[in-house]
Amino acid sequence: HQLLSAIVNVDSKEAKDKLLRWILTADFDEDSCLSRHQSSLYRKPSPHKPSEYLISKLRSYEILHRRCGPGTRAYKEATKNLIGHDDENYANRSVGECRYIVWVAAFGLGNRILTLASVFLHALLTGRVVLVDQSKDISDLFCEPFPGTSWLLPHDFPLMGQIGRYNMGYSRCYGTMLRNHAINSTSVPPHLYLHILHDSRDVDKIWLCPARDGPDHKVPWLIVKANVYFVPSLWFNPNFHTELIKLFPQKETVFYHLAGYLFHPTNQVWGMVTRSYDAYLSRADQTLGIQVRVFTRRAGYVQHVMDQIVACTQREKLLPELATPVINASRSKKLNAVLVTSLHPEYSNNLKNMYWERPTSTGDIVQVYQPSGERFQQTDKKLHDQKALAEIYLLSLTDNIVISAGSTCGYVAHSLGGLKPWLLYRPVSGRVPDPPCVRAVSMEPCYITSPSHGCENKKRIDLATVFPFVRHCEDTRHDGIKLF
Ligand code: GDP
Repeated sequence: HQLLSAIVNVDSKEAKDKLLRWILTADFDEDSCLSRHQSSLYRKPSPHKPSEYLISKLRSYEILHRRCGPGTRAYKEATKNLIGHDDENYANRSVGECRYIVWVAAFGLGNRILTLASVFLHALLTGRVVLVDQSKDISDLFCEPFPGTSWLLPHDFPLMGQIGRYNMGYSRCYGTMLRNHAINSTSVPPHLYLHILHDSRDVDKIWLCPARDGPDHKVPWLIVKANVYFVPSLWFNPNFHTELIKLFPQKETVFYHLAGYLFHPTNQVWGMVTRSYDAYLSRADQTLGIQVRVFTRRAGYVQHVMDQIVACTQREKLLPELATPVINASRSKKLNAVLVTSLHPEYSNNLKNMYWERPTSTGDIVQVYQPSGERFQQTDKKLHDQKALAEIYLLSLTDNIVISAGSTCGYVAHSLGGLKPWLLYRPVSGRVPDPPCVRAVSMEPCYITSPSHGCENKKRIDLATVFPFVRHCEDTRHDGIKLF
C-alpha cells in the first residue's frame, strides 16, 4: 500500500500506460476526472483482464454514442419523432438512424449503480445508445464515461417531466401492454416503458427475451426504471448468449469490467476517497472492509448484528482474536486497518474499543476507521450521496470485504474491487445466524428478484439449474441468481 501511494504521487505516465492496456479510452483530459487515471494505482494488479472483444465493442460503442448523443442531428431527429406522433403506428415510419435506452434514476445509490451497468450492457447488446436521467445528482457523482459526447439526457428531453412517474399502470408499460395484447409485430410505438423493479410481474421481465427483430427492437426509445441487477437474465436470451460469452469469457467479471469502465467518481468524491485512503489504509499490512446495512424496521444500532460481525471476522480469521489471559504479546505488530461503513457509528466504535481495551493474541494492531455516520438515508442530497459513493469506492480498495446480505451498496463495493465477499446472513428473530457469514463463490452481484422463467418457453423453471455458470445467491432466501 505504501508503494502504491508513492506511485500515485510520482508517476502519471505509468498511470496512462495502465489505462491504455485496460479498457479505458485515452481521449480524456486527465485533470477533469482524476479518478479515471489514478484509480488503477490504488488497486492491486488484477488477474481479470478484459477480452479483446469487449475492448473493441466499447470503442465501437463510443463512436455510436458520439454519432447519436445529445446535440447531434440524429438525436434531434429521434426526439422530433417522439412528440406529436404519440398514437401513430411506427411500423412504416422512419425511426431515424439511432435508437436509445433511457435510464431513470430511482432508489438508493447501490441500486442506481447496478441498474445503470445493466442498462448499459443491454445497450451494448442491442446497438442502443444509453442516456442517463440527470434530474437527480448523477453528475455530482460520476464523470462522463464516453469521450467527446455526453451520457446525460438533456433537460429539454420531451418526456422529461413524466419519466420519473412511470409505473406499471402507465399505458406504454411494456408488461402491461403485453398483458393486454397491445403489442404485435405491426405496432411500433415511439417509446416503451420497462419496469424492472422488485415488484415486477413476469410479463415485465419478458422484455429481456424477445427476438432481435421483434417489434420492441424497433422502438426508438426505451425508458427503463429498475432497481435490480438484471444482467444474469440477459444470458437466458439465445440472441445474446453467444455474444456475452465472447464479451465475458470469465462470467464473474461482468460487473467488474463494466463498472471499471463506466463509473469514475468526480474530483470532489475522488478527493474524499484518496484522503481517507492515504490517512487510514495506505500504511496497513492488511486491510479489511466491513459494510453494515441493517434492514430492520427500527433502524439504528442492533447488538446481535455487532455480535455477528465479531463472530464472522473471528471465525473466518479476518481479524485477530483477543488475547486470553490479557497479556501484551509483542511478536508481530502487523497493522490491520479496518474500514467500517454504516449509517450508524456504533459498530465501528465498539470494534475500536474492543481492540483498544485488550491486546490481540498475535500482537497485531487493529486500527478501525469509519468515514461517516449519516444516521439515516438521504438519497438525492448531494453531499450525502457523495459520501456514500466515496465509501463504496473505499471499500472496493480493501484486501478483504465483509458485506451485509442483500445490500446493493455492498454488492457494488465488492464487485467493483474484484473481491469475493464474506456475506453476513440476514438475522432472523433477532439472533446471530449460525454460521454468521458465508464466503461468496463469485465477485458478481446478485439479481435479487430474478424471473421465474427462461426465454425458451413460458414454463416456470429454476433458473439456477439451466447453465453451469448461474447459481442461486448465497444470501437471499428467495429466487436470487448470480453468475460465477
Ligand atoms: P441498499 O438499500 O443497501 O441496497 O443500498 P442503496 O444504495 O440502494 O440504498 C442505501 C442508501 O442509504 C445509500 O445510497 C446511502 O444513501 C445510504 N447508506 C446506506 N449505508 C450507508 C453507509 O454505510 N454510508 C453512507 N454514507 N450512506 C449509506
